[in-house]
Amino acid sequence: NRDHLSATEQSGDKVDHALRPRLLQEYLGQERLRESLSLFIDAARQRQEALDHVLLFGPPGLGKTTLAHIIAQEMGAGLKVTSGPILDKAGDLAAILTNLQPHDVLFVDEIHRLSPVVEEILYPALEDFELDILIGEGPAARSIKIGLPPFTLIGATTRAGLLSSPLRDRFGISFHLEFYSVEELSRIVARSAGILQVPAAPEGVREIAARARGTPRIANRLLRRVRDYAQVRGNGTIDHATARAALELMEVDEHGFDPQDRRLLGIIIERFGGGPVGVESLAAALGEDRGTIEDVLEPFLIQSGYLIRTPRGRCATAQSYLALGLPRPASGQS
Ligand code: ADP
Repeated sequence: NRDHLSATEQSGDKVDHALRPRLLQEYLGQERLRESLSLFIDAARQRQEALDHVLLFGPPGLGKTTLAHIIAQEMGAGLKVTSGPILDKAGDLAAILTNLQPHDVLFVDEIHRLSPVVEEILYPALEDFELDILIGEGPAARSIKIGLPPFTLIGATTRAGLLSSPLRDRFGISFHLEFYSVEELSRIVARSAGILQVPAAPEGVREIAARARGTPRIANRLLRRVRDYAQVRGNGTIDHATARAALELMEVDEHGFDPQDRRLLGIIIERFGGGPVGVESLAAALGEDRGTIEDVLEPFLIQSGYLIRTPRGRCATAQSYLALGLPRPASGQS
């Protein structure tokens, strides 16, 4: 149901692994974040301390998991990866925490989905590197404290607003990942093309970058499909014409919209008169869940001016009528 949701695609496959930057200097774009992070890492290393806990928020596919790997690598520490929904028992978290080595990094994806019980256990662990565990039941129950090695928690979430404030307050470092510019994505696509050993002309690279919804994961995925096209229908090189033809075949238009984006905007315009429409009604009409609309589809459309969020709901903009080639209602008519 979500093959269009390339941004949430599981990154388990080998190619994705090969394309993932290992060092901060290979992590392209996000300049401000990189500069601060590099400073914080240097400082922690000089003091021979674990890096402070880091919160990363931003839409899927912008490089949060990649950053967790890079931070562990740059700190010369080990990395454990888990996620909010997986960590549903207090005991599971306790087992992971007690097995960490000093300065290890624990990456918790979708940290906003931790259960309240697990969150409670996390607080003293984050603050004092200590576990408070209740053993036994009834009158015989008692609480014991277990010391933990100093470690770094890296939490990732799509929106900062989803996190409880006591949890958010326990992160000393927090970064908001931004959508990437076409120039930044061009550098990422060029780097990936090099790793995949596929010849790519700058215009071909740029065409892919321009249609990738500001998202490195989508850029890499489009690159792989364009590579297939170039191999089978072209001469193996990604030039401008090949890139355009392949992207059109994949129904990714020059705005970077995929069919799902066009449907979303089309529904707002044609079924709801351009909005405002509440996210629940939109979800029902689109047959998607609310979370997918809010986390995956909307952020790019809002950021690039195709959608606005008002207190009464979502509205299409003049730009979205134009992009879809639909006539705008005469002013005064709403
Ligand atoms: P997230 O965890 O935010 O969903 P990922 O870290 O899994 O995103 O990133 C998806 C893919 O995009 C990675 O495998 C990597 O190849 C690529 N990528 C992400 N950020 C960058 C970057 N800054 N530079 C180069 N490649 C990147």
